[in-house]
Amino acid sequence: MYTPAEVVRLLSPLYGRPEWTPHHDPMTELVLTILSQNTSDTNSGRAFMRLLERFPTWDLVRDAPVEEIEAAIQVGGLAHTKAPRIKAVVEEVGRRTGGTYDLLFLAGMSLDEAKAWLRSLGGVGPKTAACVLMFALGKPALPVDTHVHRVALRLGIIPAKATAEQAHDLLEAMLPAGEVFPFHVLLIKHGRRLCAARNPLCPQCPLLPGCPEGQARTKGDPILQQHEQ
Ligand code: SF4
Repeated sequence: MYTPAEVVRLLSPLYGRPEWTPHHDPMTELVLTILSQNTSDTNSGRAFMRLLERFPTWDLVRDAPVEEIEAAIQVGGLAHTKAPRIKAVVEEVGRRTGGTYDLLFLAGMSLDEAKAWLRSLGGVGPKTAACVLMFALGKPALPVDTHVHRVALRLGIIPAKATAEQAHDLLEAMLPAGEVFPFHVLLIKHGRRLCAARNPLCPQCPLLPGCPEGQARTKGDPILQQHEQ
C-alpha cells in the first residue's frame, strides 16, 4: 500500500508534477467555490461572470434581493440553494471585515484557525474552506472531492468507511505540506482519466502494484465484477 507522498511520486511522471500558482483572491475563490458545488467548472465560471456583470461589487451582492442573485447565477445550476448561501456569506464577510471583503489575513493564521474562521461563516464546509485556503492562499489544506475520495479509498490510504468529510483531516495529516497541492490535482486527474468510478483502467495504472482494489479487480474478484454490472 502506498503513502500519499508515494502516490504523488508515482503519478507525477504520468500527468506532470502540478505546481501551485496564485489563483483568485480569497473572497472570489470563496464565492466561486460555492458556485461550483455540484456543477462543472465551465458552468460555475459562467455563473460567476453573470453575477459580477449584474453586481460589480460585493456590497451590491450583499444588498441585492436573493431572487435577483438567483436569476443572475441560474446558468450554474442549483441557483435556488446557492443564491441565499452566497448572499449570507457575503453579508457575513462584509460584517466581519468592516466592508473590505479582504480575506488575505487568513494567510497569517494557522491552518486550523483559518479553517475554523471560514467554517464559522455558515454554509461553508470542509471542501469549500480547503479550496479557498489552498487555491487562493497556497496553504496546505486539502479539498476532497468525489475523485480524491474515491481514489484514496481504492488505494486503501483511508479507511473503507471514511467519508469525504473525514478524509480532509485524515489525508492532510499524512501529507508533507509541499505535497498537498500536487496530491489534490493528481488524484483529480487520475480519477477522471484512469481511475474512473466505473471500469477503472487498472492494467494501465502505475499504482496497480500497491493498490488493493486494483489487485482485486485484475485478479477477477467476483464481488467487484458484480459492482460493475
Ligand atoms: Fe484506480 Fe485501478 Fe489504479 Fe487502483 S489500480 S488506483 S483502482 S486505476
